[in-house]
Amino acid sequence: MAMTQTLAQSATPVCWSCGSAHEAHAQLCGSCGKLLPPVDADYFALFGLPRRLTLDVPALEKQFYRLSRRLHPDLYAQASEQERQWSLEKSSLLNDAWRTLRDPIARTEYLLELEGIALEEQSRNATDAARAAGTAKQQIVPPDMLEEVFELNMQLEEARMAAQDDSGDPELVANLHAAEKNYSAQMEALHTQLEQLWSAWDTALTAGDATAQEEAKQSLVALLNRRSYIRNLVRDVRQALDSIAVNRGENADKG
Ligand SMILES: [Zn+2]
Repeated sequence: MAMTQTLAQSATPVCWSCGSAHEAHAQLCGSCGKLLPPVDADYFALFGLPRRLTLDVPALEKQFYRLSRRLHPDLYAQASEQERQWSLEKSSLLNDAWRTLRDPIARTEYLLELEGIALEEQSRNATDAARAAGTAKQQIVPPDMLEEVFELNMQLEEARMAAQDDSGDPELVANLHAAEKNYSAQMEALHTQLEQLWSAWDTALTAGDATAQEEAKQSLVALLNRRSYIRNLVRDVRQALDSIAVNRGENADKG
């Protein structure tokens, strides 16, 4: 056992139980099958993946369930306290990793954070830059959308008043429906663009091209900001339409 301890600190990690060498991110010993202690690994490394954004999610899902069964705390009910603890820690980490990597947006945000970009920080910087330029605007309004968003906000305000006194005119409702359709279509278009940026990032990563990696990261940040902004617009428009519909329904019941 003392020898095992010494070897564990060398470049190749070895199993605490049988002393066989294993890969850095292995979960179980290939020789004796014992659970290995948790190591400091990011979610990609946990699945033995490079930090590529284009992922085969069905394949990842299979890997998740396979690993999940092997690490399951029930399997270690009779094992040592330490192994039970490792099993709990590893299962929990595995669940977090799967939830994050299977989701396109969560995966992208996670990668950006791993790559040293704090997304909220980015938005703040954008605001500061806007202020410095003498244009105090909301933090993440994409500049090319300022005009249409101003127009939309007027309509939303009108809808709020209409919801209160039941005066929603058909043109307003039609405009809001058109806006909902327009922004929903933009959300879908952004998803296609997102996948293109994933490819750009993956290619730059494989080529070890730091400049292209940096460009891909900045484009991803801009896209995520735009997406989150448009998602909020869709939400606001739907709420406005709902409130008008509910109000009309109530009045129809009374009459
Ligand atoms: Zn072993």
